[in-house]
Amino acid sequence: MRCPSCGERDTRVVDSRDLDDTAIRRRRECSTCGSRFTTYERIESARLTVLKSDGRREEFDRDKLANGLAKALTRRPVPSGAAMEAADAIEAQLRAQGVTEVPSSAIGELAMDRLRTLDQIAYVRFASVYQSFDDLEQLKREVDTLFAERADTIPGQTTMGLVVPPKRVGGVVVGTLPEPARGAPRRTSRRP
Ligand SMILES: [Zn+2]
Repeated sequence: MRCPSCGERDTRVVDSRDLDDTAIRRRRECSTCGSRFTTYERIESARLTVLKSDGRREEFDRDKLANGLAKALTRRPVPSGAAMEAADAIEAQLRAQGVTEVPSSAIGELAMDRLRTLDQIAYVRFASVYQSFDDLEQLKREVDTLFAERADTIPGQTTMGLVVPPKRVGGVVVGTLPEPARGAPRRTSRRP
């Protein structure tokens, strides 16, 4: 196993913990450049089958899921490895429930849940493909819901990069600055 930063093979484990009964997460440190990265060990025999909407079955593919998430997260301000970590978390969630077969629609929902908290633009990207929004109204409703949630949870709204400037998603302009959290429009009259 090579350090993802410099390619060094000599790395040491600095932390280990069980994710569930079938997987261990290890934090490693490169002995050359000191950068840290995460690896996962899992029991190979634990099978997880995906039931697709057309009735076919295939082996759960964590990399494929991570790739889908990574595509949605392209050029978004999230840590590198976020897609893989999200895919891991989704897999761990499924395995923790002890299921051996899972419908692909459930995986899609789990992916959207992760993205929703990770990065809302990525969420809208993913949802617009996954749920195939077929008109502007549907997309607008989804975005309105996100803004409503944001106004509920983050009154300040300017921290953590949560303000979304107008931009195109799937060829459609969706972004507008959110309204001031609630109440009257901000009109600060300051006395001299
Ligand atoms: Zn290194």
